[in-house]
Amino acid sequence: MKLCSACLLGIKCRYDGKSNLNKKIIRLLKKEILIPVCPEQLGGLPTPREPACVNGKKVVTESGKDVTKNFKRGAEAVLRIAKLYGIKEAIMKQGSPSCGSKKIYSVSKKLIKGIGITAKLLKKNGIKVISEEEL
Ligand code: SF4
Repeated sequence: MKLCSACLLGIKCRYDGKSNLNKKIIRLLKKEILIPVCPEQLGGLPTPREPACVNGKKVVTESGKDVTKNFKRGAEAVLRIAKLYGIKEAIMKQGSPSCGSKKIYSVSKKLIKGIGITAKLLKKNGIKVISEEEL
């Protein structure tokens, strides 16, 4: 049993109301139980929502709104779910300010080296985080 970014499973929870449906993830469902989680929704943000990015220790939207608390609340909710089910691995969407494990989008919308808020908290708690790119 693994956690999985809900958007990769086809749930339309992205900031723009779309999904990131991934065929490899859907194929994986035949042999693996994947629990969908969307940290940004779990953190109380609506869908659609304004895109945000990690900026130092904060997460800010394009218009400059500080949404750090929402991102942290969502990450903690995902960690609680992981602990509840004894989960040791998560497959999270690369590039996201929440789910990205190696790359995130910068303020200037460029993909840069970095880690999202949820991926970071999961790793800190001993949960392996991989992206859909590593499947
Ligand atoms: Fe997908 Fe994660 Fe963004 Fe939610 S927060 S839409 S699960 S990448």
